[in-house]
Amino acid sequence: MDNLRNEMRMEFLALSSNEGFARVAVGAFVAELNPTVDELADIKTAVSEAVTNCIIHGYEQKEGSIWISCRIEGRQVEISVEDTGKGIKNIEQAREPLFTTKPELERSGMGFAFMEAFMDEVEVISEPWKGTSVIMRKTIGEG
Ligand code: ATP
Ligand code: MG
Repeated sequence: MDNLRNEMRMEFLALSSNEGFARVAVGAFVAELNPTVDELADIKTAVSEAVTNCIIHGYEQKEGSIWISCRIEGRQVEISVEDTGKGIKNIEQAREPLFTTKPELERSGMGFAFMEAFMDEVEVISEPWKGTSVIMRKTIGEG
């Protein structure tokens, strides 16, 4: 288990109907680490939040693509969710709990807070009009 190594990449259209696909695909990929039900739920929720953000904020529900890559190294899983949408002007502010730029869509500004709560590490790289990458890491089986 400690010397496991695996990697996958996928690309799909930024449609909310693909959120379920993305979370299930990543869940299936990390299954070889034998995550607990809770660990698996955490990973799937974090992926859903990141993918929803690409669709709602990155592309503002217009056409675009989302890339997910997922790497397993030993017990650690690293998931990157990327878009080439509008980007984030102030990343620090965006990561604050309850901060949202879309209150009119009844967003609660809790997506990044959930990703941080459910994963060990969350890194956000973003540039206006180039896009956003969210890289999340979690070690499985830490008890
Ligand atoms: P919720 O996730 O609770 O529905 P939210 O999406 O607004 O609300 P977060 O997921 O925490 O909250 O994101 C905070 C803010 O960061 C968003 O309102 C948006 O301005 C910005 N943001 C997040 N992801 C992206 C992205 N992929 N592209 C552009 N902006 C983003
Ligand atoms: Mg969100």
